[in-house]
Amino acid sequence: MASPISDIEQAAEVLRVGGLVALPTETVYGLGAAEDPAAVARIFRVKGRPPSHPLIVHIAAADQLDDWVETVPDTARLLAEHFWPGPLTLVLRRGHRVPLEATGGLETVAVRVPDHPVALALLSAFGGGVTAPSANRFGSVSPTTAGHVRAELGDAVDFVLDGGSCEVGVESTIVDVTSDIPSILRPGGVTREALEAVLGRSIAVPSTSHVRVPGQHPSHYAPSARVVLVEPERVVAEAELAQEAGHKVGVFVPTGFADAAVKAHAVVTVPDSVDAYAHGLYGYLRKLDQQGCDLIIASLPPEEGLGLAIANRLRRAAGPRPSR
Ligand code: AMP
Ligand code: MG
Repeated sequence: MASPISDIEQAAEVLRVGGLVALPTETVYGLGAAEDPAAVARIFRVKGRPPSHPLIVHIAAADQLDDWVETVPDTARLLAEHFWPGPLTLVLRRGHRVPLEATGGLETVAVRVPDHPVALALLSAFGGGVTAPSANRFGSVSPTTAGHVRAELGDAVDFVLDGGSCEVGVESTIVDVTSDIPSILRPGGVTREALEAVLGRSIAVPSTSHVRVPGQHPSHYAPSARVVLVEPERVVAEAELAQEAGHKVGVFVPTGFADAAVKAHAVVTVPDSVDAYAHGLYGYLRKLDQQGCDLIIASLPPEEGLGLAIANRLRRAAGPRPSR
C-alpha cells in the first residue's frame, strides 16, 4: 500500500503540468492541484462544486505558512505549533499568491499541514502548496480509501496515490483565526477540547440543529440513501417499522444496543470507541449504499471529542436535498 518513490515523482509531475492528483491524508483523500487558476478550475469541474466553495491549501511545514497568508497572528502560530502536521485547518487573510479561484472569491484562505507520509512526500517532491478539497463529487460522502476515489471519480483524476485507509476518517477541524476570538467553522479531527486546552479559553462552534429538524443544514457528506436521525433508544424500532413498510433499511445500531437482532436490510454495529467510529463512518455509509439501502436510520453520538464531528456529518447527511 505504500507509495513507491516513483509514484510520488510521477504525481508531482502531474501537478506541475496542471493535472489532478488524488492524495491520501490522515483525514480523507484530497483532490489536489497546483496553486494555479486553470488547475484549480479543473477541481471544481470534476467535483461539480460551486465556485463559491473555497478549497484548502496543503503545505509541507508550518514554516511555509507565511508564504500563503498576509499575516500570521499569534493564535495561529500557537495552534500550528501544537497541531501541525495534523487534522487542523487554519483560516487566515489571503496572501497575494493564492488565486481567488481557490478561495471562492474570499479574502481569506484555509491552510493545513497534513499528517500523512505520502501527502508530505508529495508536497516536498512538488515543492509548493497543493490545493485540495475532498476527492468526491460535491455533496457526497468523502473517500477514505483509494478505491473509494477510483469508484467515484474514475478517469477524471490523472493520478491516484494509494496510501491505504485514512486513519482519522473525518475531515479536518476548520478554525477561523482572522480575528482575536478564534471560532470553529467545521468540527473535525482535532477536538474542541484539545483546542481549548491549548488556547486556554473556550471556543465557539457552529450552531447545531436538533434530531429530526434538519433546519438550515443543506445536505452534504450524504450517501444516496436518505438518512433519518432518531434517539438512540428508537433506532432499532424505527428501523424495523421502516423495513416492514417496504424500505430497504440500513441501520447504525448504537453502542449499548448491539445485542438486538435487528430486522433490517443491512446492519452496522457502531464501534464503542469514537476514534474507530470516525475512522469507519464514511465507509459504512458507502457500504449501505452499495448494499442497495434506500433509507439509513441512525442516532447521534454524544457531542464531545470526535463525537462532535461525527454528529455534524450525520446531521448534514440527513439534511434537505435540493436536487436529488
Ligand atoms: P473539503 O475539504 O471538501 O471539505 O473542502 C474544503 C473546506 O474548507 C470547505 O468546507 C470550505 O468551506 C472550507 N474553507 C476553505 N477555505 C475557507 C475559508 N477561507 N473560509 C472558510 N472556510 C473555508
Ligand atoms: Mg468535501
